[in-house]
Parts: sequence; structure tokens; C-alpha cells
Amino acid sequence: MTVSAKAVEQKVRNGLSRNAEWDSPMFRLAQQQFLKAAEVMNLDENVRERLLFPQRSLLVSFPFRRDEYSQVETAFGYRVQHVLTMGPTKGGIRYHEDVNLGEVSALAMWMSWKCALMELPFGGAKGGVAIDPTTFSRTELQRLTRRYTMEIINMIGPDRDIPAPDLGTNEQVMAWIMDTYSQQVGYAVPEIVTGKPIVLGGSHGRSEATGRGLVFLIVEAAKHLNLNLKESTAVIQGFGNVGSNVARFLAEAGVKIVGVSDVSTGVYNPKGLDVNAVSEHVRDHKVLNGFSNGDHVTNAELLELDCDVLAPCAMQNQITGENASRLKCKLLAEGANGPTTLEADQVLYDKGVFVLPDVLGNAGGVTVSYFEWVQDIQELTWSLEAINDRLHKIMVGAFQRTLLRSQRDNLDMRTAALIEGIDRVAQAKLLRGLFP
Ligand code: NAD
Repeated sequence: MTVSAKAVEQKVRNGLSRNAEWDSPMFRLAQQQFLKAAEVMNLDENVRERLLFPQRSLLVSFPFRRDEYSQVETAFGYRVQHVLTMGPTKGGIRYHEDVNLGEVSALAMWMSWKCALMELPFGGAKGGVAIDPTTFSRTELQRLTRRYTMEIINMIGPDRDIPAPDLGTNEQVMAWIMDTYSQQVGYAVPEIVTGKPIVLGGSHGRSEATGRGLVFLIVEAAKHLNLNLKESTAVIQGFGNVGSNVARFLAEAGVKIVGVSDVSTGVYNPKGLDVNAVSEHVRDHKVLNGFSNGDHVTNAELLELDCDVLAPCAMQNQITGENASRLKCKLLAEGANGPTTLEADQVLYDKGVFVLPDVLGNAGGVTVSYFEWVQDIQELTWSLEAINDRLHKIMVGAFQRTLLRSQRDNLDMRTAALIEGIDRVAQAKLLRGLFP
């Protein structure tokens, strides 16, 4: 029996009211994007319904000790695996106070489409802990990370589910996860996580891969749009792993960086910011606040600055139906996951803004994570040049496939990218068939 798209939407609504555990604005966004793409591609309705929900979701609560010995707190942690059809699952771990099951599930779903779009042999996963890591000492963060790893240890594994860094986590956190897992099995297992320090089996080029990959795409998009990058300006929201590297590589490509921001503030300088000076300031002071060589702007104002390229590289839900019409960029290059709502997508499409959607835009990270995993399981080391060459080839290939589909079928770039990914996952599901 088949059902119409409307009936599927109704099922989503019913499903969400039945399964309120997953419901959140971000999970709804991921589902709506998926349903829009599924409708355009006329996706098999049974597969459509199956892919709307993650296959496995784990919610744990666990105690950890603050540096004040008598102070014990309880944290909530998550690990979600969306699709287990094509190989191990892969996805980052996020530490942020707003993390919840719905957010992690949305991120896991996007990881499925992203890995498939890049033709990597993974399904999507994601994890997180609902804490504000900026209020944690290093020793507190280590204890929390080790305990969280133990809580999810039955779900992860080098051939099951391989975590990586995301918002609020970094290569040190990956090193603690690797150590905790290795202590349990009794020997070193570098391939349990990616985004590790290089001395522990990390890959050359991984830490900057997401930013580098996005800039590879911006260069391709600029060619397509006839935009001379050497005469262009860019604004970047977020100055962490992704944002700072996007700023660095864009500046190296000759783009004038006129605005940057982080959680503390935004800075605007129409004459151009010195990216090295901004990086040094953030390294020394942890935040952008206090950087003097420019005018202060809020994060909301930053998004509406005059520029050719706008790169949101911080949080979800930044470009909405409310502010999209005031954006002035020609190219929106999404480093963050889920920065743009469905309503904003329509406004941007009507305005003719070219979008590099998140599933494509930030896929450089998981691509070099894949390289790291391959190197670890084969006990090989690739050079930075080899990694960057392979990354470039994969990013440009995915860009061209997406652009071709968007032009051929008259689609926005997000829908085209999602269809590229979803189609591959759906084919794999249908080929494996239904158990039992
Ligand atoms: P990060 O923790 O290194 O940096 C986050 C940055 O965002 C910081 O500068 C922080 O101050 C800023 N920020 C936080 N809240 C903000 C707010 N409300 N307004 C403005 N700025 C804010 O994280 P990251 O690894 O750079 O990740 C950023 C985004 O990129 C996330 O959406 C993440 O999912 C996505 N992403 C990261 C990777 C990766 O390899 N790290 C890969 C793919 C996607």
C-alpha cells in the first residue's frame, strides 16, 4: 500500500505527537527539508517514512565531579544513529548547554545525507552533552568526557560508530575519548575517533578541513557566479574551528574579510580585518570581545552587513524568514549545521542568493575524518598535500553533481544536495531489503 506525500506529512505530525522525545525546532527543520526533497524526487514512500526517524537514540544521565571534591553534578548525554545501512555511522560530539535529543537527531540525519553526498561509506550519527563547556576547567572537562564515553561505549566502536569533534569539543576531547575506549579494551584504538591530535593517529589537515573544504567550494561557486574573489568581501559568523579557518583561507585567496563575530561580539571594518591579528586576540583572550581594530556590531547586525560572501559558521537558526530579506550577500556559504530555516531558503532563492548548503558546505570535515579513519585502520600516514588534493577532488566533485542537478531540475542548491545524498541512502536501503 502506498500513501501520498500529504499522508506522509500527516504521519510526521502524528509521529511527532506520539514520539515527542525527538521533537524540537531543529529536528522539525531536518524532517521538513527531507520531506521537501523526498517529494521532488518522488522517493519510495516506505523508505521515506523509514528515514524520517533515527534508527537508534540513546539518552543517558550521569554524574561527574567538579574540582570542588564534594560537588557532584548530573549531566544529560546523547548518541543518535540515523542510518546503519551503508557501514559504520559517523558524527561529531557537541558540548553546548542547549543540546537535546531533537537537536542531536537532526544533526545525525544531516550527517546521513552529507556522507552519502560525499560518497563516503558511513551512515549519519551525532552525540552531545548538555553542558556549557566554557564554565568547565580542563580537569572537569576530562572527567565529564571519560564518564560520557563510558555511558555510550556499547554504541560506539571503530567499525560501529566513530565520533569526531563538533561545537564545543576539540582534539583534546577526542584524545580523552580515545584513551577511555582504549583502556577498556586493553590496547590503543586510534580509529575509535577522528579529529584526534596527530601524535595519537590524527590526520594532517583534519583540524582545518571543514574551513578549507568550504573555501574550495566558495572558489568553485565564485567561478560559476563570475565573482572575482580578489575584489570580493566576506563576513563570517563564528570564529571557532570552522569560522577562523574559513577566514584564514579566504584571506589567503585574496578576499577582504570585513566582518567576524563570536558568541561575545561582532567586529566590522570595511577596510578589511587582519585575520592573523583577530586569531591572536582570540587565542590570547578566548573571545573576540576587546578586539579594537573595527566597529562593534551585534551578531544580528553582522548577518546583514554589505558583503559578497556570508559564511555562518556558528549556530543553527540564524537566517530566518524574519531577516533573510535583509541579507546583502551574493553567496551564502554555510559552515554551521542548520543555520538557515525553510522560510529563509525560499526568500534567498527568490532574491537570487547562491547557497552552498550545510550538507555540502561543511562536508570537508567528515571527508578528512574519513581519511583519518582509513589511515588508522591501515596504519598508514598520508601527507598534507595528498590529503588536500583528495579533499579538493571530492569537494569539487560533489559541488559539480549538486550544481548539475540544481540546473537540470531547476532546484535550489539545498534540495539538489539533499536529493544527491538521500537517493544514495534510499538505493542502499532498497538493495539490502527488509529484515526479516
Ligand atoms: P567551535 O566550538 O570551535 O566554535 C564555535 C564558534 O561559534 C565560537 O567562535 C563561538 O564563540 C561561536 N558562537 C557560539 N554561539 C554563538 C552565537 N549564539 N552567536 C554567534 N557566535 C556563536 O565550533 P566549530 O567546530 O567551529 O563548529 C561551528 C559550526 O560548524 C557548528 O554548527 C558545527 O556543527 C559545524 N561543523 C563543525 C565541523 C568541525 O569539523 N568542527 C564540521 C562540520 C560542521
